Amino acid sequence: MEEKNLRQAYDGKRKKNIVEDVVAGRPKKRLFIGMLSLTSLCMAGLLILIWYIGVPGLAAIQPWLPTLLGLIFTIVILLAFFGIFNMVLAVSGLPYLPVLQKQTYEFINALFPFAVYLGRIFGIRRRRLEGSFIAVSNLLFRRKKIRVPADKLLVVTPHCLQLASCPHKITRDPHNCKRCGGCDIGALVALADEMGFHFFVATGGTLARQIVYKTRPKAVLAIACERDLMSGIQDVYPLPAVGVLNIRPNGPCYNTHVDMDLVRAQLEEIILPVKKGKEEAGDGQSTQSGSADPKRRP
Ligand code: SF4
Repeated sequence: MEEKNLRQAYDGKRKKNIVEDVVAGRPKKRLFIGMLSLTSLCMAGLLILIWYIGVPGLAAIQPWLPTLLGLIFTIVILLAFFGIFNMVLAVSGLPYLPVLQKQTYEFINALFPFAVYLGRIFGIRRRRLEGSFIAVSNLLFRRKKIRVPADKLLVVTPHCLQLASCPHKITRDPHNCKRCGGCDIGALVALADEMGFHFFVATGGTLARQIVYKTRPKAVLAIACERDLMSGIQDVYPLPAVGVLNIRPNGPCYNTHVDMDLVRAQLEEIILPVKKGKEEAGDGQSTQSGSADPKRRP
């Protein structure tokens, strides 16, 4: 009995550590914020230079034009730095303004290509920056303490998680998977059956968006590579989304894997537990993966 309790405590601690280390990504998030700050500084310098060069010409058109442009540029620069400061507060665990998240995403979208360019100068690869963005985004998700019923959660994975030689068509309905253990799809379908969330395998961003539109979830857990997660998280906004990176032992987009312990730990954090009375009354979570039709369950 004591051994069982110790084991449960160990498992609980391990899951917590997995989520904190990988989802929060403590060492990674500083990289993204640092590069974004540097990019913002460069952009601020560029705007000041544009303003300075443009002043004589603008003043010749209208004497108040340099002041107006200067005011607009100042507001843009202040907003950018406030957005970064807000992000630093959020990732440091201090009070922050979550209402600015949409603006922050738009700001990131606008500046990310420049951050990638600057990163290249410092030998930082795009993938590392994207991974760092995901760590920041996941941390914001956790800070909001988002929890939803299982049937309001959508889990979506890319097609490359399926074994390339598998003949079963799982993009239409993941329950076509025979759960042979050849890839992680079988384990995810089993988890969807057990926990009751919607589970889909998408062949691309368009299909993923259609699935989101069709299932109308309140939160999304996406499993993908850095690039797809970064664009996906921004695409589904304002829907809260958490990303889990896939594992690519065979290179990108081919027979990829996912850490199932991490997925389960993350799901347990997001999904609201079913109330006991409800479960007994047969009103518990039903299998939602792929198709809403329970008859399709194997
Ligand atoms: S687990 Fe499912 S999807 Fe993966 S190889 Fe087996 S049958 Fe195919």
